[in-house]
Amino acid sequence: MFNRVLIANRGEIALRVLRACRELDVQTVMVYSKADEDAVYLRHADETICIGPGVSGESYLSIPNIISAAEIADVDAIHPGYGFLAENSHFAEICRSSNIEFIGPSAEIVSMMGDKARAREEAERAGIPVVPGSSGTISDEEEGLAVAREIGYPVLIKASAGGGGRGMRLAHNDISLVNGIHAARAEAEAAFGDGTLYMEKWVDKPRHVEVQILGDSYGNIIHLGERDCSVQRRNQKVLEEAPCADLPRDVRKKLHRSAVKLAKSVGFENAGTVEFILDEDDRFYFIEVNARIQVEHPVTEMITGIDLVKEQLRIASGDKLSHSQDQVKVKGHAIECRINAEDPDDDYRPCPGLVTSFIPPGGSGVRVDTHVYSGYRVPSLYDSLLGKVIVFKPTRAEAVATMRRALDEFVIEGIKTNLSLHRRILRNSVFAKGRYNTAFLKEYLLKG
Ligand code: ADP
Ligand code: ADP
Ligand code: MG
Repeated sequence: MFNRVLIANRGEIALRVLRACRELDVQTVMVYSKADEDAVYLRHADETICIGPGVSGESYLSIPNIISAAEIADVDAIHPGYGFLAENSHFAEICRSSNIEFIGPSAEIVSMMGDKARAREEAERAGIPVVPGSSGTISDEEEGLAVAREIGYPVLIKASAGGGGRGMRLAHNDISLVNGIHAARAEAEAAFGDGTLYMEKWVDKPRHVEVQILGDSYGNIIHLGERDCSVQRRNQKVLEEAPCADLPRDVRKKLHRSAVKLAKSVGFENAGTVEFILDEDDRFYFIEVNARIQVEHPVTEMITGIDLVKEQLRIASGDKLSHSQDQVKVKGHAIECRINAEDPDDDYRPCPGLVTSFIPPGGSGVRVDTHVYSGYRVPSLYDSLLGKVIVFKPTRAEAVATMRRALDEFVIEGIKTNLSLHRRILRNSVFAKGRYNTAFLKEYLLKG
């Protein structure tokens, strides 16, 4: 195992990785920006290094600053968390050339999967169903129009470098397609510095079901079951659960097998997720691979009893997978609510500020992953995620009941949050039945 690991992230995931390191007796080096100098988790690190001002381009996204910190602190490895540099193949490459282990897949895999059009081609090559769409990227309007004619409207224009639900446009006809191509390209260029686009047929009201995978450097790949992430707002996940509550046995098996097959065919290493959408008839289609730890990883940890971040560290340090596929047993039901600093009365606009009171829930079956405390000021520069409430119970009905009371216990004052939305989701009868799709929030719980 490593002696010393640098955590190149902030917020709840920085604390999550720090905890795994400490339990493995690995020393931690936490880097932070000026805007995060009051972060309480910094106290638990063996060493802390300021890597620049609040603006992430000059701190959490600055490869030179992070590599310098890693060299000064003499670490063996870097954990990138999610977001920021987690899916930056150039960063993974520089780590390698600096003799620092990047805790994640190889630079080649990160690069291949980060290019969503390319990942689609790899999935097709592996014999996994993909959403009908462009073969590869589309270079101009003409090509886009030709693809639309072939697959039929409505179509979704997507950014190859996309993530976090950004860079996507729905088009119903030729005019909105041409406009959508320009809008998606501009958004993708601004957000990811890459305006490359591809197209998919729009699947109406799909469910989003994804499979967690783990692979070691000896070619062993296992899956840890699936998560249902269909509670979404603007293509971004809001609540996740595991296992998926309504999935025919054979479909579940095929999903797991497809994810492992794709991972094997590309030689995937470390932790990753294969994302699918399912249509009304439970036909599934690959959409993308996230070659990193995901926000919603705790629900899988709860139902499998496997600590995914510790597994990431073990795999990166050269260990074999600690479980065979047969040893992975799914038990019980877990739900996660993402608690964001957002204003429900202003279209869930991010809403930073001073948290005057923060009293998280507890009790049987409740886990709260958060870096927030009473007196903490949520910076305006970063993601609005305050933390996650995760519950784990033997059955889904019990998990729902526990989440309801956990949300009711949760006190957050001083800033606006999406707690009220979660409370309504947990009391909604469609959600209670367990079969809902990505249109659920908009149809039942969101205005406009
Ligand atoms: P998850 O499935 O882990 O929730 P998300 O797509 O919601 O994945 O992304 C998790 C975090 O990573 C969010 O903070 C999001 O803004 C960030 N993120 C995802 N993809 C990218 C990307 N390509 N570039 C920058 N940030 C990203
Ligand atoms: P990101 O990289 O931003 O996470 P994804 O490709 O994973 O982008 O898609 C995010 C979400 O957008 C999906 O979970 C789903 O709700 C929606 N989506 C993506 N592709 C399609 C599609 N072809 N049809 C309908 N919805 C889609
Ligand atoms: Mg996705």
